[in-house]
This record gives sequence, structure tokens and C-alpha cells, in this order.
Amino acid sequence: MAAIELRGVTKRYGASGLRKSNGVTALRDVDLRVEDGEIFGFLGPNGAGKSTTIDVLLDYLAPTAGSVRVLGHDVPEESVRVRERTGVLPDGHGPIGERTGREHVEFAIEAKGADDDPDELLGRVGMLGPEEYPVAQYSKGMTQRLLLAMALAGEPDLLILDEPTTGLDPNGAREMREIIREENARGATVFFSSHILEQVEAVCDRVAILDRGEIVTVDSIENLRERA
Ligand code: ADP
Ligand code: ADP
Repeated sequence: MAAIELRGVTKRYGASGLRKSNGVTALRDVDLRVEDGEIFGFLGPNGAGKSTTIDVLLDYLAPTAGSVRVLGHDVPEESVRVRERTGVLPDGHGPIGERTGREHVEFAIEAKGADDDPDELLGRVGMLGPEEYPVAQYSKGMTQRLLLAMALAGEPDLLILDEPTTGLDPNGAREMREIIREENARGATVFFSSHILEQVEAVCDRVAILDRGEIVTVDSIENLRERA
């Protein structure tokens, strides 16, 4: 089964029938298939359309054209089921405010209707200790660790990680890769989006390269290395 299946997906921002402007075409006729159980890299420079693709997978954005299936569910019709079974580490800003890291993890567990032990999740990402501080005091690297703990809640079947190693030092990035492999060994499919080849290369089985909204290559890491 395919964990992710995009067919002919196009996304235009700001397209309006009332204006002459066609807006920005962030995705153009994208076909993509990620198999169950893969660690799949989604590589492309900033602005390529990676975050837009993730937003479409989760039904945060409606595509202009095309069809989307995630974990065997049609999007948008069954996107509630998709979100229940998917853990997401979003790009950009982490949680802000006075709530503690622990409270955010507890909230993520509750939102999934899961019964994970918050200490176990916090321990796995190396955040036992700072977990009682408000997230406003966290560094970027600590925020990424906390976001990973939140994404792991409820043993998701699919992990979607958008630039997950941002702000992590090499050691932190290695620890994150270990967790990704553990989750994959448990049975989760992993979709790893990044603009850094080395990050994708270090953990993924296969990779798609996205450039200006179009898929230019889909291949195994070994084949890509041979071609380079
Ligand atoms: P990536 O995640 O690969 O950096 P994005 O999906 O964020 O790429 O962006 C793809 C393109 O769509 C870029 O040209 C970006 O400027 C544009 N874009 C993204 N979000 C919006 C938006 N809300 N409105 C208009 N253009 C957008
Ligand atoms: P990324 O490229 O990693 O997604 P960005 O910094 O490009 O991050 O985008 C941050 C936010 O701004 C996103 O929510 C994106 O949708 C929005 N955005 C990006 N480009 C544009 C744009 N040209 N017009 C409006 N919103 C945009």
C-alpha cells in the first residue's frame, strides 16, 4: 500500500478569477508515491514547495487540482482519520507562551486520544529536565526536540517532519535520526522534508527532489550517489 499518493497535484496561491494575476504556482502537476514503511526524503531548495505539499497532505490547504490519498484515506474527505494517525513536526515557529514543555506534550497526547507516558516521550528526545520550563525559554534546538516528542504521541503510522533538524547541533541531529529509525522499525512511515542533502542522505531510503514546484527525480539514495 502507498502511505502517500499524490496525483496531478497543482497548487496556485492567490489565483483569482477576478484579477488578471494567476498568482504563484507552488506545485505543478505533482505525482508522488511513498510506500508503507519507507523513510522517504523530500529534498528541495527554499521555496520549492515542500511546506505546501505537507499542508496539502494534511488538508491545511486545498490543492487547485489533483487527488491526494494518505494512509489509504482520501483527502479531504477522510482527513480527520489522516490527522489521527499522523504525527507532524511543523517547520517555522514552535509553541510559544508560558506553558511548559510538559504541558505541550500532555496536550499532544490528549489530542491524539492516546495514553503515552509524557516522561517517556520527553526522555526519548532528551527533554527531561527542561520540561518544567515555559517553552518561551527554549532554544531552537530544544524546541525541535519538544516538537518531535509531540509528533511521537499516539504511535503514529506516518511521521511528517518538515526541516526537523533546524537548530540542532550535529549530535542533536544524530539523536533525531536514531529516533526516526526506531519509529520506522516500529512500523511508521517517515516523510522527511529538508533543503539539506546530507540530512536526507543520512537517514532516508528513497528521495524525491522538488524544484520550483515540480518533481525532478525520485530514486534511492544509492542510485543518486552513483549519478552524482
Ligand atoms: P518550501 O517549503 O519548499 O520552502 P513553500 O511551500 O513554503 O516552499 O513555498 C513554495 C512557493 O509558494 C514559494 O514561492 C512561496 O513563496 C510560495 N508561497 C508559500 N505560501 C504562500 C502563500 N500563503 N501565499 C502566496 N505564496 C506562497
Ligand atoms: P517555508 O518556506 O519553510 O515554508 P517560509 O518562511 O517561506 O517557510 O514561509 C513561512 C510562512 O509564510 C508559511 O506559512 C508560508 O505559507 C507563508 N508564505 C511564504 N511565502 C509567502 C508569500 N509569497 N506570500 C504569502 N505568504 C507566504
